[in-house]
Amino acid sequence: AEAFSANVAGAKALNAFIVETPELALAAAKAADADRAAGTLKALSGVPIGMKDLFATNGVQTTAASHMLEGFVPRYESTVSQKLWDAGAGMLGKLNLDQFAMGSSNETSYFGNVLSPWKRNDGGNAALAPGGSSGGSSSAIAARLCPAATGTDTGGSIRQPAAFTGISGIKPTYGRCSRWGIVAFASSLDQAGPMARTVQDCAIMLENMAGFDPKDATSLNLPVPDWEAALSSDLKGKTVGIPKEYRLEGIDPDIDAMWDAGIAMLKDAGAAVVEISLPHTKYALPAYYIIAPAEASSNLARYDGVRYGLRDLPDGAGLQDMYAATRADGFGPEVKRRIMIGTYVLSAGFYDAYYTQAQKVRTLIARDFEAAFGACDVILAPTAPSAAFGLGEKMADPLAMYLNDVFAVPASLAGLPAMSVPAALNREGLPLGLQIIGKAFDEQGVLNAGLAIE
Ligand code: GLN
Repeated sequence: AEAFSANVAGAKALNAFIVETPELALAAAKAADADRAAGTLKALSGVPIGMKDLFATNGVQTTAASHMLEGFVPRYESTVSQKLWDAGAGMLGKLNLDQFAMGSSNETSYFGNVLSPWKRNDGGNAALAPGGSSGGSSSAIAARLCPAATGTDTGGSIRQPAAFTGISGIKPTYGRCSRWGIVAFASSLDQAGPMARTVQDCAIMLENMAGFDPKDATSLNLPVPDWEAALSSDLKGKTVGIPKEYRLEGIDPDIDAMWDAGIAMLKDAGAAVVEISLPHTKYALPAYYIIAPAEASSNLARYDGVRYGLRDLPDGAGLQDMYAATRADGFGPEVKRRIMIGTYVLSAGFYDAYYTQAQKVRTLIARDFEAAFGACDVILAPTAPSAAFGLGEKMADPLAMYLNDVFAVPASLAGLPAMSVPAALNREGLPLGLQIIGKAFDEQGVLNAGLAIE
């Protein structure tokens, strides 16, 4: 009993969950028993799943890790979470994240940072970031608190936390998973996807999250393939592209070594490997940090103190005062920074210089990928330029934080499926992830290459 209590305390110290709902997971487990007895087991019968607290869950507080939505209890269920419940899964709780999914370390959450269960092998006890924004998801899976969780990825928020914690995660093609009922950050980039320990678990989860939804105008009207059934690590006849622009000067040699080891693994699996060029790569990060805040500033206009969650109504205050007080109080510093950047780049005098220019860059990035996929089936690159960094290390310097997304954002801007799989441990004993980027709709190619590496 003592060991159990210590484990529970240790698990709670990770701060991975904002709300725990064990009764829902238990109900699913009981339903699974009944299904088994009746011979009607479903794909995820009884599987306890962590739900990133960006998905609206009917009757369960949904906060986007913000003070703005503290106490907000939706009366509707996101399409993706509903699909998981329909497949028999049960919700273990709502997982912590960066506030409104803005961040790369889970340190912008109103509900406190999440800890990675990993430690460096130097004998020290330094607290490490689980990555972000899906840091509750990555930490909970890495710590074995749940076998799978949902994530969302706008500019790397599934892949980077997966890489930091030694698990797998896939962002499918933009439009595969419905955005309906997911708190919007940057709508042209936001995409849900699964995080889990193995590629196979990701495939099973994704099959039960994806699918056409008339409630999302950008939802793809395509059948959901049986990705799990077609999983194969035999890559004979496949060509893997290595983008030369991702070989950053001065990058940690452990990252390069992992990349080379990954190339060797894919060759062993039968693939041919070629160098490719994505010439506009260096413009992806600046374009992302214009487009994402621009869309965020528009999406977050709805938090006005009237429609959702928080309302600050100072004595004798008028409507404008209520807006100002609520938004000043409800949004954290990073969210405010994004709104400021977003409204600036959308303002009349600067629109063409920033927003229009960034959209042009986005098109060039997408064309780079199209051209490259003329010569290869999937692209292999690191997920992030470093292993997990220490808590607090980058919080004072937003640009250093943004730079961690350098390898993740190009696939987001192009709407392509991309996955991170654990590939190596660095000299400090921390996990590193390799990223596989695929052609639009080719999640299978991405999963299969991932399988050859894990
Ligand atoms: N780290 C990126 C950002 O802060 C990506 C976040 C995400 O994908 N939700 O915008």
